[in-house]
Amino acid sequence: MPIPPLEPLPASPLAGVVNATGVVLHPKLGRAPLSAAARQAVLDASGYTTLEIDPATGRHQPRTSGPGRLAAEVFGAPAATVVNNGAAALLLTLHALATDREVVVSRGELVEIGRSYRLPDLIATTPARLVEAGTANHTRLEDYRGAAHPGTGMLLTVHRPDRHPGGNETSLAQLAELAAELGVPLVHHLGSGLPHRLPAALPDEPSVAGSLSAGADLVLVSGDKLLGGPQAGIIAGRSDLVASCERHALARALRIDKLQRAALEATLWSWTQAELPADLPVVAMLDADPVTLHQRAVWMADQMGPDARAVRTSGRVGGSLLSAVSLPSWAIAVSCDDPQRWAAELLAGDPPVLARLEADHLRLDVRTIPPSRDVDVVEVIRGLSAG
Ligand SMILES: *Cc1c(COP(=O)(O)O)cnc(C)c1O
Repeated sequence: MPIPPLEPLPASPLAGVVNATGVVLHPKLGRAPLSAAARQAVLDASGYTTLEIDPATGRHQPRTSGPGRLAAEVFGAPAATVVNNGAAALLLTLHALATDREVVVSRGELVEIGRSYRLPDLIATTPARLVEAGTANHTRLEDYRGAAHPGTGMLLTVHRPDRHPGGNETSLAQLAELAAELGVPLVHHLGSGLPHRLPAALPDEPSVAGSLSAGADLVLVSGDKLLGGPQAGIIAGRSDLVASCERHALARALRIDKLQRAALEATLWSWTQAELPADLPVVAMLDADPVTLHQRAVWMADQMGPDARAVRTSGRVGGSLLSAVSLPSWAIAVSCDDPQRWAAELLAGDPPVLARLEADHLRLDVRTIPPSRDVDVVEVIRGLSAG
């Protein structure tokens, strides 16, 4: 019998893209682009590796101990461990520390992130019971007190960079005091995970060290947000709690693989070398000099031809809740009769470029375009103008 014809297979199922959207941690483009060192580390780790061997002794060593030690060092935490992503970090924490107990969360912090993550739904899959404190727009210390019971196992607070004024009136220090009184851990889901100093673009973003010193027992962060590394989840804080997470049976199902570990270690290493490591593309983009952005936009518009001009624009940090934080930037506006068709052709081009679609033009934010690709972007726009 003849074999029915198959759908043509995509030649390159996963392709590199030039990000001209101005969204630094673009969720659809895989959040943080890796540093050169992290890319090299991934390449080096793609064969056999010392993933679970101590190279000094040849003895078994858990795969998380290397990146865990580095993360603890970078975050100034007593201990840390790593899992597959931020959602996994919370899942493991709930299983390890609040099985059959109550976890108290402010109603204003029951967030949704990128549709597939809804905090209450995630908690519902675990043996921990969600207890809501306060209201959607106000949660005070007495609300937490009222919600806590003898069965309480954990206080969980979620960092909301998008917070409306008035959200959670309870400070981390107050929550820490209450948690200590109840004898339960305070877990802070920070999400973004800046180690210490803040880029000027994000003056209000708290650091992991700050959260720990304000009294959080554990801080949960993602590897591919402001940390600028691969998808990963880091659980940092009290050694006994970190050890409970590591020992839990679920840890095996949520573990990182060797490529994630390689990229994460290289990224964390960069953070040990500088307060604000410019070799990490996320840091370089957030800290980009506006004068340089302007010069690049003017040069590229000039090279692209009469339909292109440099314009002021507003990019975004991106990465779920940080989406709300905007970044003043420079872009090239390319006027065209059918922006939708141009955008599609740009994305299908070589290299593929993702631009922002406006009513009568395409907008290419230079902040997220790697400077080494400026010439390529000019070429593809010229190709479209000529075609
Ligand atoms: C990003 C984020 C998550 C989800 O983390 P992933 O790494 O995407 O799994 C959960 N909670 C908060 C507060 C976040 O910022």
